[in-house]
Amino acid sequence: MNCPLLSEQTSDVLLDYSAGRLDAARATTLQKHVLVCDACSAFLAGQAEVWAALDTWKAPPVSISFNRRLWQKLRFRIWKSAVPVAAAALIIMIGFVYDHKSQKSQMEIDQVERTLDDIQLLRQFDVARAL
Ligand SMILES: [Zn+2]
Repeated sequence: MNCPLLSEQTSDVLLDYSAGRLDAARATTLQKHVLVCDACSAFLAGQAEVWAALDTWKAPPVSISFNRRLWQKLRFRIWKSAVPVAAAALIIMIGFVYDHKSQKSQMEIDQVERTLDDIQLLRQFDVARAL
């Protein structure tokens, strides 16, 4: 077996072994390698210390005010994350209103042009009828 620490693809084999996630055949192969490899042996010793520390660690009791403080922080974060969304919505709304305003102005300009054309046509018609 090649040393799993020499490749990124195989380095997680040692973590899987430490967590007990390796099948028996791969675990046996790794155990044989660890007997002759100082780096893997040191890595597994460190992992064993971490697991032992995690097994003995006990979470401190939760204070009575924990839930209240947690909800205050969550509400603040929700509010903080809502501000950019509200700003984006405002920008979109301003763009929508501005775009519709300009479309409305263009429609009014077109209507005025058509009316002026109609007036000019009627004048030409009146001139032609007068002759
Ligand atoms: Zn090794």
